[in-house]
Amino acid sequence: MRPDTPADHVDHIAEAERLERTAGLYPEDAEHLLLQAAAHLELADARDRATTLYDRLISPSAAHPPENPTLIRALKAANLWEYGHEAEARAIIDGVRGTAPTDAAPWVIVAESLEAHDELDQAHETFTEGLERLLSAGPGGAAGAGAGGTAGAGAARAEGAAVPAGAADPGEAGAVAGPMAAGGPVEPTAAGWPAESTAAGGPAEPTETGEPVEPTPTGRPAEPTAAEPPYPTHPLLFGRHRVRRLLGEAHDAWDALADRVHRSRAAAAGRTPVPLDELHDPKRIWALGSENPDDLRAEITRLQAELGSYREALSRPFPVAVLHWPATELTELLTAYPALSAEYPSHEAHLATIESSLRELAASGTPNLGIVTGTVPSYEAFAASEGTSPDDPSLLPQYATTLAARGRAVGWPPERGAECWCGSGRSYGECHGVSG
Ligand SMILES: [Zn+2]
Ligand SMILES: [Zn+2]
Repeated sequence: MRPDTPADHVDHIAEAERLERTAGLYPEDAEHLLLQAAAHLELADARDRATTLYDRLISPSAAHPPENPTLIRALKAANLWEYGHEAEARAIIDGVRGTAPTDAAPWVIVAESLEAHDELDQAHETFTEGLERLLSAGPGGAAGAGAGGTAGAGAARAEGAAVPAGAADPGEAGAVAGPMAAGGPVEPTAAGWPAESTAAGGPAEPTETGEPVEPTPTGRPAEPTAAEPPYPTHPLLFGRHRVRRLLGEAHDAWDALADRVHRSRAAAAGRTPVPLDELHDPKRIWALGSENPDDLRAEITRLQAELGSYREALSRPFPVAVLHWPATELTELLTAYPALSAEYPSHEAHLATIESSLRELAASGTPNLGIVTGTVPSYEAFAASEGTSPDDPSLLPQYATTLAARGRAVGWPPERGAECWCGSGRSYGECHGVSG
């Protein structure tokens, strides 16, 4: 195994305890680290311990008030419900919805928690509330929320919607997203999305006839269609789409947007998209000739597994990071700990290995890659915190992961034309980014 790439197998309890120790050493990064630790505890099914961590983070006596207390409460609620504390979970979820957070993650967590416990109507309402809050200009004006934000019940300015939309290659995505997106940013709303959308008009309670109630008048302007709604809102769009398919609701404008975003994301990743409608269609079961409740349950479980992937992404928002030693640091490291020389034959080889490791990870489909830069003193401190000697090469990947968890990773690959990550001062394309 390469010493400076992350191990595949994770002992979640050990990882959580390591992150907790690290949080003790770096109180300013504790929120980051303890949220990671709690995610590992949840994955290990140590849910009561995870709850303790969430409580510690939002405790009024915490040394550092959390940056995102609403997210922590949402995670706590989802975790509580998973081990039988339903009433408490529901109360917290109501509270989270009541605060109408302006970032997507708490909405996603609580809506998916409701969905996971078969509260489909509540999940539907929550996904919708979140979208109204974050895309206040409605499905046709996602990125215009900041400018146009007079539309809909959730007309308050949504910070989340101010994130530049379509930051990831809007041109490329638009070019392959199908006829709906052919007009790109200049396509008028009316042409792209049905004007009879009910999505922006409030909680869209279905009536007995299955028809959504009339939306409240919104005066939503016919803004140009956004290239793409902000990335963090995608799970809300997809989740709402999924729940509405399970509820047998007809498509509305948010659903059409979900379909389009799904297509453009698949295309941008070079994949042939399986249409969202196929992924989310419970009728697939019936088409297979089964109305067996076990089959239906299996399908719902499969759909819920999709939730897991987002939950997992949240639990690892930091990149998979490869460790980089600048030349002077590497010299100092190998002088002090010659046992590590086997890992690093030369600085030049070390740099080449970093680049090739990252390319290999990227080629195998690993998203969110990064580089962390080591220093000898911080590495020694890390070894001490682990109660071991710095000349143990198995410590290197753990050190890299910990730096990444502390938010110290720089994304890879660098932007086109940006300086190379190695610090040579040359552009990436002329340095380690040179192809071949
Ligand atoms: Zn659809
Ligand atoms: Zn370079």
